[in-house]
Amino acid sequence: MENQILGLHHITAIAGDAKRNFNFYSKILGLRFIKKTVNFDDPGTYHFYFGDEVGSAGTILTFFPWGEGIQQGRKGSGMATEIGYSVPKGSLDFWQKRFDEHNVIYNKPSERFGEKHLPFLDPDGLKLELIESKTEDTRKAWETDEIKADVATKGFHNVTLTLKNIKATAAILTEIFGYKLIEQEVNRYRYATDTVETAAIVDLVELEDEKHGHVANGTVHHVAFRVKNDEVLMHFREKVESFGLSITHQIDRQYFHSLYFREPGGVLFELATENPGFTYDESLEELGKNLKLPAQYESDRERIESHLAKID
Ligand code: ZN
Repeated sequence: MENQILGLHHITAIAGDAKRNFNFYSKILGLRFIKKTVNFDDPGTYHFYFGDEVGSAGTILTFFPWGEGIQQGRKGSGMATEIGYSVPKGSLDFWQKRFDEHNVIYNKPSERFGEKHLPFLDPDGLKLELIESKTEDTRKAWETDEIKADVATKGFHNVTLTLKNIKATAAILTEIFGYKLIEQEVNRYRYATDTVETAAIVDLVELEDEKHGHVANGTVHHVAFRVKNDEVLMHFREKVESFGLSITHQIDRQYFHSLYFREPGGVLFELATENPGFTYDESLEELGKNLKLPAQYESDRERIESHLAKID
C-alpha cells in the first residue's frame, strides 16, 4: 500500500442549478449526499459531495453548482468525458425504467470489454454510465427507499478521458501512477491499477481530430486519484516534478489533502489523501445535513448562507 496510487478518489464536475443537481444525484440516482459546503476558492457558491454511506474514496462525485444560466461546457479532447458507476448484474432494466419515469436521457445498453453499460446524461448534460462489472464488486451500496442494494450504485467503475493522442497521458498512468494497459477495443485503451479491486480503471479514448473541450456546465473539472496519507502524497509530488511537470503545493481541502497538476494531455489531475475523511466535521448520521464551512469562512456564515439557494 505504500507509495501507491489506490485508484480513483473523487471526480469533480460543474453543474447549473444547485437544487436540480441535488435532486438528481441524491434522489433519482440514489447517492448519499455526504457534504454540503462551499467552493473554498469562491465561497459564494456551493460545493456538493455525493458518495456511499461514509464517503469512501472511489465513490465520491462532487459538483460546483454555479447556478442557472451559466455557460454550457463542450465535451472534447483534453478532458474526462464519461463517469462510470458500478452496478449489480441484472440491474440495468430497473435503471432504464427509472430513467423513463424521470425523463432522464439515456441510450440503450450496449457491451464493451464484455460488460453491459447504460449511458445517460444528468440534467446539465454530464455523461455518465452504469456498468455491470464483470468482476464482483463487494462494496456496500447506499440504499434509499426506492433504490435497494440489488440495484444501487456501488461507486466508480472507471473514468474515461478523451485525448487527441493517448501517449503522454498513458505514460503518466503507467510510469508515475503504476497503472497497466489491460485491454483495448478500437480506440479505447483500458488502464488499471492492481492496488485496489474497485474504482481501479481509467479508459483513454484516442480521437485525433477531436476539438479541445471547454470546461463549464455539464463537464468534468478534474479527476482525483487516491493516496493513503500525506507522506505518500508528497512522494508523488516529487515523482510528478521529476517528470518535468509543475504541481501545486499541498492544499487543505478539509476532508482530504491535495495536490493538483495538469497532465500533458490537458486533463486536470488531483492527488488526494484518505485522511481525514468526511466525518471530520459531522457525525456519520449527520453527513450532508448541515452547511459546513472551513474555519476561515465561519465568521461570515450568515452572509454566505443568505446568498446560497435553498435545496431542500
Ligand atoms: Zn478535487
